[in-house]
Amino acid sequence: MESRGKRLVALCKNVNVQMLSEEEASNHKSPQNDSSSTDDEPLTVKRNRWTKSQPEKWKKNVMKEKRSMGQPYRSTKGILRPAKTPKPARCDGYQCEVCNKFKNKSLSQEDYKQHLQRRDQANAAKANDKIRANEDTTFISVSFDLQSVLHIPSSQVSMMYYSLKLCAYNLTIYEAALPNKAFCYAWSEVNGQRGSSEIGSALYKWIETIPTNVKEISLFSDTCSGQNRNQYIAALFLYIVQ
Ligand SMILES: [Zn+2]
Repeated sequence: MESRGKRLVALCKNVNVQMLSEEEASNHKSPQNDSSSTDDEPLTVKRNRWTKSQPEKWKKNVMKEKRSMGQPYRSTKGILRPAKTPKPARCDGYQCEVCNKFKNKSLSQEDYKQHLQRRDQANAAKANDKIRANEDTTFISVSFDLQSVLHIPSSQVSMMYYSLKLCAYNLTIYEAALPNKAFCYAWSEVNGQRGSSEIGSALYKWIETIPTNVKEISLFSDTCSGQNRNQYIAALFLYIVQ
């Protein structure tokens, strides 16, 4: 009986609410009427079914395009993001051997000063080449580096940690000029190691793909002696320009 009594009350409440809303409808808009009006809105606005969608004109896609091109853009939150500026190479002892030596006090002040000068010269040369590559079609400027060793298969399972995995290498060449084309040369330890011969082979493969109108190339790297800065890579470049 109790539950029935409650049900009746609930029904009465419903009626009450309905009656109230009808009264209010004659005077002013009630919250219920508001909700019904919003439900009706889509019916009144007739959309053309055959309107062609243009995703390239969508605000979000325009923003993404500008961001990828390094141009200034307004974010989804309305914040104005400035154009990209080239970041100078990090030389704060994190990766740099010479800076680390100076930190450990095994390098003289004079040598360190010269090192910083060379760093600034290299950064300036890279920035200049970037500007030139954007204007001159017969000139290409790239930076290249070997990615840290990739393990196949990649897994976070703890037991996999102890099992021997296949090592894979990836040399990426990145063009300084827009639209910043990138080329990846990947191989596994079955095909070769990560020495100067393999780096040289990958560079040679990339140079073969360069358009014939290009007369000059500049390459920037971390000058790792085992991979880039050695007699084998120098010999390769001499062979190419012959
Ligand atoms: Zn340094």
